[in-house]
Formats: sequence, C-alpha cells, structure tokens
Amino acid sequence: MQVPFLDLKAQHAPIREEIARGLAAVIDDSAFAGGKYVAEFESDFARYCGTRFAIGVSNGTESLWLCLLALGIKPGDEVITVAATFIATAEAISHAGAVPVFVDVDDRTSLMDPELLEAAITPRTKAIIPVHLYGQMADMDPILRIARAHGIPVIEDAAQAHGATYRGRHAGSLGRAGSFSFYPGKNLGAMGEAGAITTDDADLADRLRVLRDHGQRTKYNHFEIGWNARMDGMQGAVLRIKLRRLDEGNTRRRAHSEHYRSLLTGTSGIILPEIRSYGESSHHLFVVRMRERDRVIAEMAKRGISCGIHYPIPVHRQPAYATHPVAQTSLPVTERWAADVVSLPMYPELQEAQVAAAAQALKAVVAELSSPPAVAAL
Ligand SMILES: *Cc1c(COP(=O)(O)O)cnc(C)c1O
Repeated sequence: MQVPFLDLKAQHAPIREEIARGLAAVIDDSAFAGGKYVAEFESDFARYCGTRFAIGVSNGTESLWLCLLALGIKPGDEVITVAATFIATAEAISHAGAVPVFVDVDDRTSLMDPELLEAAITPRTKAIIPVHLYGQMADMDPILRIARAHGIPVIEDAAQAHGATYRGRHAGSLGRAGSFSFYPGKNLGAMGEAGAITTDDADLADRLRVLRDHGQRTKYNHFEIGWNARMDGMQGAVLRIKLRRLDEGNTRRRAHSEHYRSLLTGTSGIILPEIRSYGESSHHLFVVRMRERDRVIAEMAKRGISCGIHYPIPVHRQPAYATHPVAQTSLPVTERWAADVVSLPMYPELQEAQVAAAAQALKAVVAELSSPPAVAAL
C-alpha cells in the first residue's frame, strides 16, 4: 500500500469550489495586499485562539522576527530558545541582531526543559521562545513563572500548534505573543505563504501592524523603519475558509495518533514520545524514535511508506551556525533525538488502513534490522 507523508490534494479536493468563490471575491474587490479579507481572517483567528488581536503577516519566520522587533530586541540582546526546532526560530533571533541561546529539551517530549531555563538567563536575556514542537505545547506554567520572575517576555513559536491547548487555553494565547506559520503543510495551511501573530497586548498589536507595513499608520507617513510583511489578500480568504475546518482536521489527526500508539506501544526498539496530560496536541507530526533511523526510512520507502525527519540536524550543529558561539553548545538530549527521530505519515485525510499499514511496516522493518544476521548456510 502506498502511504504518502502528506497529501494536500486530498485536503483541498472537498473545498475547491468554496476556495474558488473566495478567491473570486478577492479578485472582484482587488483586495490583494492586506485589506478586507486579511482583516476578516485576523478577527476569526484571534477569536479562535482566544486572544484580543491577530496580525496577519507574510510567513511564520517574519512573524517571529517582527515579534522580536516589536518587543525592542536589539543587537547584543540574548533570546533563549531550543535547538530542537526548524531553523526559522533561530534565524529570526539572529536577524533581529540578537544572540540565540539554546537550552536542552525534555527527553520525554523534545520540548524546552523548564528546569534548564533559569540557569540560562543573564542580564542580557530579553525574550524566551518556547517551541510547541510536533503540535504539543511546551510546559508553559513553569516557563511563564520563571519569565515573569525576571520580567522577560515569552513568545510562543506556535507554527506547529494551531488549535493545541495547555490547561484549556489555546496555543498563542499564553505568552506575550504567539507566532504562527500557515506554510501549506501546517495544520492550518495557506495556498502560498502566510503567518500571523496573536496577542492580548494592544500596544504590541499596534506596533506590529505599523512594522509590517513600512512603519506607516497613514499612507506615506513613516513613523519608524518598518518592513513589508503584509499578508496576501488571497491567503486571507483561503485561510478564513480553512480555519472553519481546523478542529475537524485536528480531531482526525488525534484519531490517527491514537491508532498509531495502540499499534506501536510496547514494540521493542521503538520509543514513543510522551503525551503530557496538561493539554491536547495539534498532532502536527507523529514522531517515533529508534536506532538506525536512516536505514529504517529507506526500508519503509521500499514498502511504499514515506517518512520524514524533523529535524535531522539541530540548529546549533547546522553549518549556518558553525562560526557562531552556539556551535560550542552541548545539548545531549537534543542531539540524541535528532539522531533517532522518524516522522510517520500524518494528515487528516489519512485512511485507517494506511495508518495500520505504516505501523505494521515499521514494526517489521525494526524487527528485521535488530535481529542478528542469519548464519550463512554451509
Ligand atoms: C514552519 C515553522 C516556522 C517558519 O514558518 P514559515 O511560515 O515557513 O516561515 C517557524 N517555526 C517552526 C517551529 C516551524 O515549524
């Protein structure tokens, strides 16, 4: 059986007509850069996340960067985050002129280890960015407690966590700001590039709106040096339609995740990440750990099952950071996870039989690779 890693065609087939009507309305109104359709999506998305404001931007990397700029992060400042993430989290910090400081992750979840946070704080620490990796939220209570004690703002990197919750509150509503990506493969995906920032802070929201639009409040009056990071009107229209289906998609992802767990729990040679009881994951990725990860993925591909690796090289080991002081950091848990992780196919439209086929194939491959080589027949 063929099991693709992701199937966006299957996601879009049932909503093609509705999307076409939404795009036609944008064309008829010529509302292409920012505008009405973006504003409508922003208000729906803020309501969904439970925040006062949502600011639509061009992508989830610029949303992180704009958060840092709007919070006044300057060259020489330090921003604490994790290296177990997509590189965008660190890039945003570096492009704000600040220094990323990585703390190691919790071995159960690959999420920021709050126990290591306090020791990483210095007088130069000006922000903390926990990453809700794979859809599971970081343990926000201790992170927020430590941040508050030091007066440091927390930005949630919620790019993988649309709809995830922590003690009943949605991702993006716990920190000073939440940063979202709507890259097509995310739980809420645009048909192109887009991102958003959520916040309850009216001043921060205002500053972000000014920064994303060339530092202007009214046309050609530029209060500060901003940037063009506006959301595209077509993406606003598409996202508003797709937002209505986010919860349904996440529910299906949860069912697949539980199905995988029921089939894989107790299998020797396969470690399942822990699902913490403090919230509900968005189940963006279903990640398992094992030895000989690369051989396993190659064997799975031969059986028609496409797997991914999120992420094979942690940020502090990337060539891009080779001459940067972070390259000297030792993050044993992060490094071990990077060597062991395999992401199994995960998207709402997966069929139960495909989940079963992927799980069976994985068990067979892992058993085969771990059994001692057969003694050659004489
Ligand atoms: C996808 C992602 C981003 C970047 O979002 P883009 O929209 O692709 O720029 C940032 N952080 C994390 C954790 C992501 O997964």
